[in-house]
Amino acid sequence: MTEPLRLDRTRQLGRSGITVSTLAWGMWRFAGAGARQGARLVHTALDAGITLLDTADIYGFDGTGGFGDAEALLGEVLTAEPGLRQRMVLVSKGGIRPPLPYDSSPAYLAEAIDASLARLKTDHLDCWLIHRPDILTHPQEIARALDAAIAAGKVRSVGVSNFTQAQITALSHVLGHPIAATQPELSPLCLTTITNGELDHAMVADIATMAWSPLGGGRIANPTTEREQRVAAALDVVASAHGVSREAAACSWVMAHPAAPIAIIGTQNEARIRDAASAWGVSWTRQSWYDVLVASRGERLP
Ligand code: NAP
Repeated sequence: MTEPLRLDRTRQLGRSGITVSTLAWGMWRFAGAGARQGARLVHTALDAGITLLDTADIYGFDGTGGFGDAEALLGEVLTAEPGLRQRMVLVSKGGIRPPLPYDSSPAYLAEAIDASLARLKTDHLDCWLIHRPDILTHPQEIARALDAAIAAGKVRSVGVSNFTQAQITALSHVLGHPIAATQPELSPLCLTTITNGELDHAMVADIATMAWSPLGGGRIANPTTEREQRVAAALDVVASAHGVSREAAACSWVMAHPAAPIAIIGTQNEARIRDAASAWGVSWTRQSWYDVLVASRGERLP
């Protein structure tokens, strides 16, 4: 028998000195909840041991101009209960600017950070990410904006999302601070970062990986294709052995990779948020972890 794979409840956000839970709660689908229900969801996540909350200026955008409502809703929750702010490590993102689609020019990034702080009713973000790479901004220009935001105390750390490894490396070379986090898609249904070197790079560069859509946006809960059903069946073996849900097993599969990715769950259902915390109780063997990988690949490893 081999040792179970390591699965920690907390980790460092890169070299920022900030400690976070290895499960995060995401607010992509948060807008529209209303302040009372919004507060209930925030409390549920924090009470479940989830300290990392992930939002973005674009979340809740309805296409009519201005920006999304998810940050504003969290701002309402924090205004009603200011003590909640210090219980969370708050992450937001910017740089998607409809209809462009992307803008990482220094002036726009500075404006976007200020606007997020105003909506969130907070004086700083614990980590701020560029949501998607803007091909038309030189990394030195991006670095200038991010370093200035840290120097001004508006953000404690910075990171990127959906950047390639080469884009992360390029920005790292010119940024005055270490990149604390990267946020790619990662789940038993999305293996790209496992095979393209991104997770390996994150490990050696000491960058925290925040895995978005760890349930494939819900497809693991409700599998329809043959591949999704195969992955669900492999997860069910481990889930039933540990008395947890398939969804908790999926999160823990992501978290058990040696890069210790943080699984950002997206459910807006209180019981499901609580349920996700049972991911910490799953122990993976090499065999069971590879069984899920092989189910997703649809063919054995060579
Ligand atoms: P997910 O956890 O993979 O999927 C959540 C979806 O699955 C929700 O619609 C949820 O619906 C549904 N679901 C159905 N049955 C479920 C069950 N039994 N347990 C849990 N969920 C179930 O994550 P996601 O919402 O796609 O993304 C998570 C977070 O990642 C976002 O909130 C955001 O913070 C981040 N994200 C980042 C990017 C980026 O580009 N950086 C892109 C996408 C997402 P219910 O609410 O009804 O439970």
